[in-house]
Amino acid sequence: MTYPSPTDLVHPSCPNFRWYEVWRSQLATRYGFDNTSKSERVILGAKNLVLHVAQPLRDHFGGYSPQSWYRGERLEKILCKTAYAKWCRKKRLRQSPASWSQYFALKSHPTGGAFDIEIPGVPNDELFRYIRDNLEYDQLIREYPVVGDPRSGWVHVSFAEGANRNQDFALTSKGIIYDYLR
Ligand SMILES: [Zn+2]
Repeated sequence: MTYPSPTDLVHPSCPNFRWYEVWRSQLATRYGFDNTSKSERVILGAKNLVLHVAQPLRDHFGGYSPQSWYRGERLEKILCKTAYAKWCRKKRLRQSPASWSQYFALKSHPTGGAFDIEIPGVPNDELFRYIRDNLEYDQLIREYPVVGDPRSGWVHVSFAEGANRNQDFALTSKGIIYDYLR
C-alpha cells in the first residue's frame, strides 16, 4: 500500500480535507513527537469520516478545519490521563499496561474515524442538531455545553463503517445528558 502524503486529499471525491488536517496536533508538536499513522484501519477510518461527515458539513456550512482528529497512543495517553484514572476507579481496576490497553481500545480518535469540530459562525448547538437530524454517525457528542451559551464547548463526531451505534448525547462536568436539545 502507498501511504498518503500530508497534502493529498483524504478522500479522492472530497475536495476540502487533506491528510495534514488528520495528523496535526499542537500537543504532539509541543512534545516533539510524530502523530501520524500508517495503519490501514486508521486510513480507512479517516476516509469514511470525511465522506460521511466532514465533507457533507463543509458543503452545508462552509469552510472549517477540525480541531482534533487522529490521536496516536502517545497523544491519547497524555490527553486522557485524568479520564483513564477515573475509568479505572469506576471499573475497580489498577492503572497498568493491561487496563490501559482495555481503555485505549474504547477510544474513537485513535481509529481516525472521530474528530472534534467547531465551524466558524455556527453555534455548536446548531451544528449538533444538524448532524443529529441529517447525517449518519456512530457517536455524536455535544462536549461541555454551558447552559444559555449555544457556542460553548465543541462537537465530537465519530463514524464506524458497518458499526454505527447512532448515539447522541451531551457530556458535561456533571455527567451525561441523553436528551440534549430534544
Ligand atoms: Zn473528541
